[in-house]
Amino acid sequence: MHRHPLIRSMIVLAFAITGSASTVWAAGKAHEHGALKLDVAIEGNLLTISMEAPLDNLLGFERAPRTDAERKAAADVLARLRSPDTGTPHFAADAAAQCALSKAEVQAPVLEPGAKPAAKDEHAEVQASYVFTCAKPNELRTLDVGLFDAYKRTQRIDVQVAGPMGQAKSTLKRPARKVRLAR
Ligand SMILES: [Zn+2]
Repeated sequence: MHRHPLIRSMIVLAFAITGSASTVWAAGKAHEHGALKLDVAIEGNLLTISMEAPLDNLLGFERAPRTDAERKAAADVLARLRSPDTGTPHFAADAAAQCALSKAEVQAPVLEPGAKPAAKDEHAEVQASYVFTCAKPNELRTLDVGLFDAYKRTQRIDVQVAGPMGQAKSTLKRPARKVRLAR
């Protein structure tokens, strides 16, 4: 079906917004330390990656920082998540697809200034979403995931990919890093 390009991009945008809004985020929700979740979606020329991770995986604790060292560690993690392309990229699609990061959003309410201290047995998570715009999305084959390099406490990544070829689930176990995006 042919659609006007503007309409099409609006549909894609609506899809992206709905997708991130429907992701349940809750402090205190049970989660598994060492594991994180990635949702990867290919729609038109957009590659969208949503990540949900126990804060422990990235930082080693799941509460507001208490010391200067913890505050620095938390700020470093947030800065790193907001610039996923620095150093070893967190996510690298095939060079031939010519993808460039166009949006990065990171939410970690427990690390916000003035956050309420969590109760003793509470957990906290980080949610991040990234949008890459790809000049040649038909060239998307694999996604190289660099999260194991950056976050030593992460051992497993559960990945769900939704794209033109349908949906697929896979699991990366350290040190694996390649997610298949297309047949
Ligand atoms: Zn936890």
